[in-house]
Amino acid sequence: METAIDVQLLTHTPDPIRVMYVAFRTCYSRFTPQQIWADIESGKITEEKMKTFIFDKLKSGHSSPRTQVYFTFAVSGLSRSASHQLVRHNNGITFDQQSQRYYAFKEADFPYVVPETWERAGLREEYLGFMRRVGELYDQALKAGVPAEDARFLLPNAASTNLTFTVNFEEFLHIADLRLCWRAQWEIRHMWARARNALKARFPELAKPVQPKCGDQRLGYCDEPMAEYLKCPLGARRIRLHKDEIVAAAKAGQTVESSPLSEADLALLTPRPEFEKVPAGSPS
Ligand SMILES: Cc1cc2nc3c(=O)[nH]c(=O)nc-3n(C[C@H](O)[C@H](O)[C@H](O)COP(=O)(O)OP(=O)(O)OC[C@H]3O[C@@H](n4cnc5c(N)ncnc54)[C@H](O)[C@@H]3O)c2cc1C
Repeated sequence: METAIDVQLLTHTPDPIRVMYVAFRTCYSRFTPQQIWADIESGKITEEKMKTFIFDKLKSGHSSPRTQVYFTFAVSGLSRSASHQLVRHNNGITFDQQSQRYYAFKEADFPYVVPETWERAGLREEYLGFMRRVGELYDQALKAGVPAEDARFLLPNAASTNLTFTVNFEEFLHIADLRLCWRAQWEIRHMWARARNALKARFPELAKPVQPKCGDQRLGYCDEPMAEYLKCPLGARRIRLHKDEIVAAAKAGQTVESSPLSEADLALLTPRPEFEKVPAGSPS
């Protein structure tokens, strides 16, 4: 059975802006956190003031307030090849994933992802046929008494999986740095973009700094190899700059500017793969 990725924000720290604000201010204020909280409750400290304060601190190394708030997501239809990458993140994030030992797929039909490249290569039917054959042998093995933990040895990286994970805001930003980057594998990039969309639907202001590392709210430039930068939709369109260009300009006593990342720019990183191939530009 072919699956598609779905990501939902299940729950979160009830008021993440307020919690981060109180955490930051506790460090810099003569007031107690109780007093700061009371000032928020009374309206003396406004929502706008809290947001401005938090976003001013985004580029500072004072990251611990951002680790005090959590978001819990549900993911389904992600391939095991992408989930294996996702679960390598372990600092500030915790996962629970569907087991292939304790749950055995039924009716010779296991869920799997079909990359579009197979379709474009004209090999979709061969791919589906192979998955059908794997499903049949998996089922035959289970019926012959092979335990699920051994029957699963047949299942390919394409097999899809379900997860729940809880992540703090600092780690959410860090994973976006790496996985929204065009160099990340397409499926995990699309998955993290969906997580960002789910966050944006609930907390639009918190989604703004969730960018690939080249974004104006993050590292600010591309530090990947130049040849890769030129293949990226943001690099090829000269939307973000490469570090070599910035260094070269600085040596020449010049400064170079790039525009902040817009939502439309970010959408370039997550279209269907066939639209990702853009003509390479050249560094100025
Ligand atoms: C494009 C790309 C290609 C990759 N290719 C491969 C590959 O070919 N093979 C492979 O095995 N892996 C690969 N990885 C996985 C990579 O090596 C990391 O395992 C993965 O990115 C998670 O590491 P992290 O530092 O982001 O962990 P996180 O847990 O997300 O780290 C969060 C933060 O904590 C810090 N941190 C994490 N652990 C520690 C620690 N123990 N001590 C101190 N600080 C820590 C990190 O520096 C980071 O700032 C790839 C990742 C990417 C993005």
